[in-house]
Amino acid sequence: MQEAGIESVKVSANTEAIIRAEKIEKYYAQPSANRIQVISATDLSIVPGEIVALLGPSGSGKSTMLRMLTGLSRPSAGQVYWHEQPIAGAEINVSIVFQSFALFPWLTVLENVEAPLQARGVEPGARRDRSMKMLDTVGLDGFEAAYPKELSGGMKQRVGFARALVVEPEVLFMDEPFSALDVLTAENLRSELLELWANKTMPTKAVFLVTHNIEEAVLLADRIIVLGRNPGHIRTDFKVQIAHPRDRKSESFTQLVDYIYKVLTKPDVAPAEAPEQQTGPKVRDQRQMRYQMLPHARPGGMAGLLELLLDKGGRDDIYRLADDLTFEIDDLLPIVDAAQLLGFLKIEEGDAAITESGTEFANSEILRQKELFRGAALQNVLLLRQIRRALEAKSDHTVPEEFFLDMLDEQFSEEECLRQMETAVTWGRYAELFDFDAGRRRFILPDAQEEEIAANEEVQ
Ligand code: ADP
Ligand code: MG
Repeated sequence: MQEAGIESVKVSANTEAIIRAEKIEKYYAQPSANRIQVISATDLSIVPGEIVALLGPSGSGKSTMLRMLTGLSRPSAGQVYWHEQPIAGAEINVSIVFQSFALFPWLTVLENVEAPLQARGVEPGARRDRSMKMLDTVGLDGFEAAYPKELSGGMKQRVGFARALVVEPEVLFMDEPFSALDVLTAENLRSELLELWANKTMPTKAVFLVTHNIEEAVLLADRIIVLGRNPGHIRTDFKVQIAHPRDRKSESFTQLVDYIYKVLTKPDVAPAEAPEQQTGPKVRDQRQMRYQMLPHARPGGMAGLLELLLDKGGRDDIYRLADDLTFEIDDLLPIVDAAQLLGFLKIEEGDAAITESGTEFANSEILRQKELFRGAALQNVLLLRQIRRALEAKSDHTVPEEFFLDMLDEQFSEEECLRQMETAVTWGRYAELFDFDAGRRRFILPDAQEEEIAANEEVQ
């Protein structure tokens, strides 16, 4: 068990891929002539011996990727191969476990597990034997006759696993399989799955796990692929070589979690190498970025988060925080990221820790908060600084939005430019750095400051 991770890495280095995607893309047609690109040209291989985790924020295209790799959905361009045969015509052997369990409510537990065998034409006796054995393996002995609605979430997902594994898939796919379960149940199921895998109780040769949970990926995976969005693309792809059983509190574990966290929260920065990884990740995201990507968070959201953190003694685990707020981690990340960008908090080992300026911000009245926000924004956010400088420099103290859009569009898509601008306007207005005339699409200096500058100019 100790060497499981290392062994599988060796195997994978010189083995042929089971599934190989070559430059696959996905776009969806829209009523207008435009189409939405969900996945940009991506190469990806699944090789024997590996648990691969595909990690990424929601909407980055993880499920879309899984559907293409399993042949459920055709790529709009590129090709997926199953043992080097185009997947569309190949006889593939994969199973998928879904977050939603996707059981047939009108069938018993046993019948649910038997269903895929029946679909494959396995005769009733063998079908029953294999299903009973699999139910035993996943700890559902005695529940054969129950119906899904009588089961807890954890038990439903055990049925999901049994149904997936009973066909002895060559690759087991899972799309957020633990996300709908409570923390303890999820943790139990994870370790049981790992045990089945490590003991080779299941003949499955590779596992492909889609998740947005960083720790889950680091706990289970031999290899982690991080997807970025708009459109979906691989940001980093690296091996995890921490020996099993993995200790969430060990240094190598927390370092890796931090590393991935940083990759996820900084979509505009090319990822650094993963820590202490001998083989090193292949960094493919090499776009050079001048402007920071402004996280789309509101100042009020940041204030709320900082106040909450202060309440909790100034520091808390980001996942716990998300849980407490019943936020999806994806919804919390932009707020955390924005507060981090402004220097109001720091990320340390998966914890959000409030800084001195963050503490002052959280403790202040609204006017003082605006002042602190203004200082932090000017210091840390290039775009806001540029807008403000331009307004001060121009004699009429107004500048068209276009001027800044032109600079941004070298770096962001048209749509993202507009979102960046929208966030800049929200932040700038809140901080009273500038105002924005939405009708004329122009930035303007707020009145009072305009007069002040005019007065200064007269004196000079
Ligand atoms: P994830 O699983 O990472 O949350 P998905 O693969 O479900 O992401 O979706 C990726 C993106 O594709 C999302 O922005 C989603 O809105 C879009 N998308 C998914 N299916 C369709 C569809 N049938 N038509 C248009 N857009 C879609
Ligand atoms: Mg999904």
